[in-house]
Parts: sequence; structure tokens; C-alpha cells
Amino acid sequence: MKIVHVASEMFPYLKTGGLADVVGALSCALADKGHEVSVFLPGYRSALEHGEVVGAVRRMRLKIEMANDFLSGDVRFFSPRPNLKVYLICREEFFDRRNPYGNGERDYEDNAERFIFFCKAVVEMIRLGDLQPDIVHCHDWQAALLPIWLREAERRHRVTLALKTVFTIHNIAYQGVFPSKIFARTNLPDELNQMDGLEYYSQINLMKGGIMFTDRVTTVSPRYAQEIQTPEYGCGLDGVVQARADDIVGLLNGVDSAVWNPATDGLLPARYTAENLAGKAQCRAELLRRCGFAAETKSPVFGMVARLTEQKGIDFVLANRDFFLAQNVRLVVLGSGDRRMEEELRVLAGAGVQKVCFSAKLDESMSHLIEAGSDFFLMPSVFEPCGLNQMYSQVYGTLPVVSRVGGLVDTVIDIDDDPRHGTGLMCEPSAVGLRDALQRALGLFGDRRRYAAAQQRAMAKDFSWSVAAAAYERLYEDSL
Ligand code: ADP
Repeated sequence: MKIVHVASEMFPYLKTGGLADVVGALSCALADKGHEVSVFLPGYRSALEHGEVVGAVRRMRLKIEMANDFLSGDVRFFSPRPNLKVYLICREEFFDRRNPYGNGERDYEDNAERFIFFCKAVVEMIRLGDLQPDIVHCHDWQAALLPIWLREAERRHRVTLALKTVFTIHNIAYQGVFPSKIFARTNLPDELNQMDGLEYYSQINLMKGGIMFTDRVTTVSPRYAQEIQTPEYGCGLDGVVQARADDIVGLLNGVDSAVWNPATDGLLPARYTAENLAGKAQCRAELLRRCGFAAETKSPVFGMVARLTEQKGIDFVLANRDFFLAQNVRLVVLGSGDRRMEEELRVLAGAGVQKVCFSAKLDESMSHLIEAGSDFFLMPSVFEPCGLNQMYSQVYGTLPVVSRVGGLVDTVIDIDDDPRHGTGLMCEPSAVGLRDALQRALGLFGDRRRYAAAQQRAMAKDFSWSVAAAAYERLYEDSL
């Protein structure tokens, strides 16, 4: 099949979270299965500066209609591996910035304009170019209007694009909601600016358009596919999702074993396998050293790597500060984002010298060291579409402590619920729930035999992308 992916992030060219890992790994897995895969990304500064991209061919210039203006851009492409091409939609004014979505304080004012331009440029490339895809797979709100524009391009230019569209919801909490005045920039017919179109409480909601007008909707875990049909988790779009209930499916993300594999991980000080965990002990020792903790620490080390947002349950961790200060445990947190959370974590680290370590950097190699060197990985999310870190931690033999929501339910089994299959600990998404799981973690860590058995089961799990990509392959074939 000829498959086009359209997304705002792809590892290793630009990453702020799991979306990048998924787009990077899925497109490579599909290319390796012999499909012709193209990925469209905005030409962010970090992407243009990436070693593989420098010197890439300037392929063609585009003029994109935005209301009554025409804005120019250019497209550069390169091929990082057989069967895979990456296209960067470039316009300095929009994408030559240090951060993709905002300046840290708030989102950029022109985000609607930027991603409308991006999607329209992709539509033009599909319409004019020789890609002729069978499937156009759009990810999250930044690419949500592509299905509707592809149909609009057919109408306007009287062509038939023999393709099917798939729209994946990676996180329904981010919908791309903008003032209704931006509707003019879409150049879509006015009747689409209504309740059964993009209109949403007198604003424009891009994700709503994606869910409504694509051929197939997917999300990133079976549990989340159910949850987002309820008011509690649907973030206002539960009714829209329900209306597509027959076409929505939850497909779990996988782990990119080229990047996340303790046996080959070049970012670790030592490598290891389930059969020989000596390297894990070395990683633990290096983590203790990097955090300034005593080298002889025997007590459990809890690690956490997350964007600092409400979603990730940082407040549940902070509410348990007395546990981390009073108990004989260590806590390492790597994450940036919300300023208040950063500040409170800094205060906690200040109060728990030699016990709590916090780093607000984006640090890929530290994130690998935490996965490998910790004894438990904390992920007490309020909601979690799929989550990758709890899968990485199991692959690295670090037991996850997670809340019973979304993809966490589909990927972790609580050791007390099922002692023969359990690989982690689960809790209700609350401070009290987390406290209970932390206490149980202490008990489990004290029972070396039980802990080691759970660790072996975790490392034996198959989270590989070959399983996950096969599920997408079946979906594409089915929709064709
Ligand atoms: P989400 O996509 O909601 O952020 P996931 O668990 O699906 O959550 O994926 C998060 C990804 O981002 C993981 O690969 C994680 O290691 C990475 N990550 C998050 N924060 C940081 C950070 N400060 N430094 C390095 N990697 C990070």
C-alpha cells in the first residue's frame, strides 16, 4: 500500500511527547513491511537542523490559499530508510521557532494559521504530486482537517482521489479550538461552520472536524476508545465520538525496540537482558550518582519521566510528599512544563536532599537512565490515552506504578489482582490511591523473590511495533 502519515511530530526530528515516538516507529515498521510510506511534518527548526535533513533537496514551491491571500512555502524531502520518505512543509514565518506550539507560557497566537497552512500544503502535494496514496493517516488536531480538505479538493478541482482517510486521536484533551474568525482561513463552505460541522460553542474545533469527516477513527488503546465516549473523559467531544462508535477502534501503541531496548541501548552506561541483570545494577548505580544519592542506597528508587501537566498526576505525587520525605525511598523526577509544578517539585527536592532529585530539562539520555536504573516507575495519570513510559519500564525490568485509566489498564496487570501474571501496581487516580500503591510497592520490594518474578514477567512481554503495525495494516486493508 501507499501510505501517507501527516503529523506535527516525529522522532527523531521533533519530539515533545509520545506522538513523536508513535509516528516515528509506526512509519518505520510499515516501511519495513514493504509499504511505501511518506510522512509529512512541519519544517520546524529542529527538523531542518537534523543531520539527515541538512542538504535535503528543495523540491518545489507551493502557493497556499488562506482566505483571500496566497502564502508561499516550500517542501523539502529526504529518505531516511528504504520505503520511507519524510517531507517537510517549510515556511520560516510559521515553523522556524525553537518550540513547536508555544513559548512555554502560552500557545502561539498564530497556531490555527500555522497548522491550516501545513495541512493545506499537504493536500496540494497529494493533489498535484505523484504520491497517489491509498491511505492518508492523520494524527491529532494539527492534521485533523485533512480529510475534509481532501474531499473539498475533489469537489473544487473535479478530481477523484481514490484514497481512504484514517484519523487517530492521540489525546482528546488537545482539540485545537480557535476563535470562529479563523474559519475564513480554511476556505471551506460556510455550511461547515455549523453545529454539524466544525462549530463548537461559537468557536472552531479542529479535532471535531477530524472525527466527523474521516473514513475511520482510531485511538491508541481499547480502553481509551471506550472512555472518550463518556462525559468524564470525552472533554466535551464524547457525543461526537459516540456518533462514530461503529467506526472507532483502539489500537495499542508499541515500543520502538531500535530505541528502547536494554540489550542495545547506547544511552545507558551498561546494557542488560532478563537473563543477566548485572547491567541494570550498573545503571542504578549511575542513576544514584547522577542524582547525588548515596551509592550504597538499597531502598527502592521511584522514577518518573513526564510532561508536567495535570494529566500526568504530578499533583498526586506532590500530595504524597511526606511519604517520599519520611520513608526510606528515593524519588527521581524528570519533566518540564507547568511552572507551578516545576516550582513545587524543586521545593520538594530542596526539602529532601539525598532523597528526592528533580530535573526540569528535556533530556533523552536521562529518560533512558531513569527507565533502566529505577526500581519502580511512577505514572499515576488522571487519564492516559495509551502511555509509552509504562511499557518502556516493563521492557527495562522496572515495575510500573500506574493508575487504572486508559491504556495503562490495557498494558499493566496488578500483581495483587493476578499474582501469576502481574507486572506492576495499579491505583485509583487520586493522592490516596497513589499512597496505597506506594505502600504496596514497599512491601513488594521487601519480598525479593516476588519482585524478581514480576520483573521477569514484565521483561518477557511483547510490546513490539510489529504487533501494533500489523493491527494498522489490517485496518487500512479493511477500509480499502
Ligand atoms: P505523552 O505522550 O502524554 O507525553 P507518553 O508516555 O505516551 O506520554 O510519552 C512520553 C514520551 O516523552 C516518552 O518517550 C518520555 O520518555 C518522553 N519525555 C517526557 N518528558 C521528557 C523529558 N523531560 N525528557 C526526555 N523525555 C521526556
